[in-house]
Amino acid sequence: MAEQNDKDNKTRYDVVIIGGGPAGLTAGLYCSRARLKTLLVEKMLLGGQVMTTTEVENYPGFPGGIAGPELMERMQEHCQEFGLEVQTAQVEKVENDGAVKKVVLDSGVIESRSVIIASGAQPRKLGVPGEQELTGRGVSYCATCDGAFYRNMTVAINGGGDTAVEEALFLTRFASKVYLIHRRDQLRAVSVLQERLHANDKIEVIWNSVIESCEGDNSGLTHLVLKDVNTGSTSKLEVQGVFIAIGVEPKTGFLHGTVDLDDGGYIVTDMQCRTSVPGIFAAGDVRQGVLKQIATAVGAGATAAYEVERYLADLE
Ligand code: NAP
Repeated sequence: MAEQNDKDNKTRYDVVIIGGGPAGLTAGLYCSRARLKTLLVEKMLLGGQVMTTTEVENYPGFPGGIAGPELMERMQEHCQEFGLEVQTAQVEKVENDGAVKKVVLDSGVIESRSVIIASGAQPRKLGVPGEQELTGRGVSYCATCDGAFYRNMTVAINGGGDTAVEEALFLTRFASKVYLIHRRDQLRAVSVLQERLHANDKIEVIWNSVIESCEGDNSGLTHLVLKDVNTGSTSKLEVQGVFIAIGVEPKTGFLHGTVDLDDGGYIVTDMQCRTSVPGIFAAGDVRQGVLKQIATAVGAGATAAYEVERYLADLE
């Protein structure tokens, strides 16, 4: 029995954090610093969506802005200072077994006394003909990643939020012409970005329009079919690239009903980042109804870590 307990203590974590974006890394920093036995699981590169952000200019402490990947590298370094353990793996399931949570990975099962889900969000797909077939051959979801391929070409960006406008501005560094296609006659993006957009001669906004299909040939995307939502008329727009920036959806498919989600698939939590299951917490963009900013994700990561400490103390 003693041997079994010893084995359990060696393999059972106090907390497993799922996701290595700003929320997950902050939770990792706080939990490791609190001397909890902590594991952060990330399926890809650490850093999350910020890794695809060229310039972050609204995270406090960096006047003049900081490149997204550089900010995330600093967060990683900071976690390393406190010895955060990181594993690259895909989480397939989280099982609640009362005081023990089982995090099922593609490479095995990990036991933990608590879990923080910080799996974030991913770009939403348009769902129109040609989109999937031409992804990687003209259709992209990340201007920071793919923009440089479109030097002196004509490109379009779809969406009216902060991401679409930021990416349209970024694309003007390479492309000769950037169309921003938006389904309404008003942008959702913050004013400072709208001002920059309208001041940029390379950008033309196509209002009240949606993409009906992405069309191409063997060489890749050749044009988009647009529909004017007011008149219903369609037109062809010749572009070599289109960037879809119509919002994000939460990465919660692996949860299979373990915690309560809202209709959009976001995790329902209270102010303390507690989910419907005691011992499972959520932080960052994966939570229902939160402002999607690095600053708020960091705050939630810290809150979730603090609540994990309290939860574990109560268990003992
Ligand atoms: P978002 O704010 O949800 O905006 C999505 C845009 O896409 C909206 O303009 C929306 O139109 C449009 N849209 C949605 N579904 C569509 C569809 N099926 N067809 C055509 N258009 C569609 O998404 P986001 O810009 O990716 O931003 C996500 C979050 O991250 C936001 O909270 C944003 O503030 C934040 N963010 C912040 C920064 C920053 O602070 N620097 C940068 C990037 C993102 P409607 O306007 O008509 O709804």
